[in-house]
Amino acid sequence: MCVDPAWMPYESIDEHGQHVGLAADFMALVSKKIGIPIELVATKTWNESLDFSKSRKCDILSLLNKTPERQEFLNFTESYLDATVVLVAHEDVVYLNGFKALSGQTLGVVKGYVYESHIRTNYPNVRLVYVDNLDEALRRVSNGELFATVDSLLIVTHHMQALGLSNLKIAGQTEFVHKLRVGVRNDDPQLLFVLQKALDAVSPVERNEIFQRWFTVRFEHGTNWRMLWSVLGGAGVLFVFLLYRYMLQRRFNKQLKAKNIELEYLSQTDPLTGVYNRLKTDALLDQEFERSRRYGRDLSVVMFDLDNFKQVNDMHGHQTGDRVLVAASALVQASIRKHDVLGRWGGEEFLILCPETDLKGAESLAENLRQQLEQLHLSEVGTITASFGVAQLGRTEDIKRLIGYADSALYDAKQKGRNRVCVHKPLVS
Ligand code: GH3
Ligand code: MG
Ligand code: MG
Repeated sequence: MCVDPAWMPYESIDEHGQHVGLAADFMALVSKKIGIPIELVATKTWNESLDFSKSRKCDILSLLNKTPERQEFLNFTESYLDATVVLVAHEDVVYLNGFKALSGQTLGVVKGYVYESHIRTNYPNVRLVYVDNLDEALRRVSNGELFATVDSLLIVTHHMQALGLSNLKIAGQTEFVHKLRVGVRNDDPQLLFVLQKALDAVSPVERNEIFQRWFTVRFEHGTNWRMLWSVLGGAGVLFVFLLYRYMLQRRFNKQLKAKNIELEYLSQTDPLTGVYNRLKTDALLDQEFERSRRYGRDLSVVMFDLDNFKQVNDMHGHQTGDRVLVAASALVQASIRKHDVLGRWGGEEFLILCPETDLKGAESLAENLRQQLEQLHLSEVGTITASFGVAQLGRTEDIKRLIGYADSALYDAKQKGRNRVCVHKPLVS
């Protein structure tokens, strides 16, 4: 039997001239099953083994792919080792979906490897670069000279670990599966038959034992446990850090949200009375105006101003005046409908937006408010009154005009003696 002297963990010839590796274990088992010793014919290289086989210096080859050239001098058993062929690239490469992902990239291949011609035929865009052996290919991928290289999974991981190239990774699979078999001189069909029988007799348990053994060796050889732990440790630290940051951020976001709500309230609200301030009232006016225009809905406004308020301040002081403003706006706020909006327009002047309300509706609302304010009894001050101007948005008016109408109606109310409601009468009914 000839073997590949350097193809670990599949097989090799060790320093004592012994056949070792997965294939060696299989062949030992086969030898036991057929009850005949199998003698190793040692070679220096795989090529030499192939030559020996051609010239019948050996009768069998322990583990190889079936190819048409080899079939000229060999028969083959069924495969007893199927190996996925993978692509190896720098660890920064995210994922390679087979040879087609290598279009335009360099791929290191060992000359004479079975997949070389396959790639050249089916993936002409892959730039093949020939290397002497897998170790050379891996080194050159590691230092960036080559984009990727290719070999079977088990071989690749074995060599990556042996070389200690930690910046490489298995970046993807290929459609290639090595179907590795025993090659038997093709002038001895009986030998093929016997070997096939023996291979068939290898039980799943025996098979498993062999695989376990060589996978175990792989881990013993490798320093990857240390790498694995450092990766896991790093991931753990990162996870804790991210969790901590997430929790901080969540708390911060909560505070920020509360702060924003507060800010929004402050930016929209009159600090004395708690009703909408002028800015917000203007914004709501625009909004209601748009809505009214788009859907053809009624919109009216009521503007009111406390009567002779200067006297209240003068007689009872500014602070009492403030309390009157608070009481009056609270009363109005409590008396308007849900969809009406009360805003402080300035000083002792307020504006009520009345969506979905025509002139008549707004007028009666204003009259109702006027009466309630009149009946409000305030300690120190006694009673107060207010004057009201009412206007409805017409088809051709904008907000400015509408407010102007309400303002002039209010002026009318003041002129006519205060404590009354005046309505802006549209020219065209
Ligand atoms: P009229 O019936 O014509 O409206 O007479 P008025 O006295 O109410 O009107 P005028 O515009 O002469 O006076 C408004 C007063 O309202 C003057 C101002 O000091 C007072 N005022 C405006 N804002 C406040 C406020 O926030 N607090 C207090 N206490 N007084 C205010
Ligand atoms: Mg006033
Ligand atoms: Mg005023």
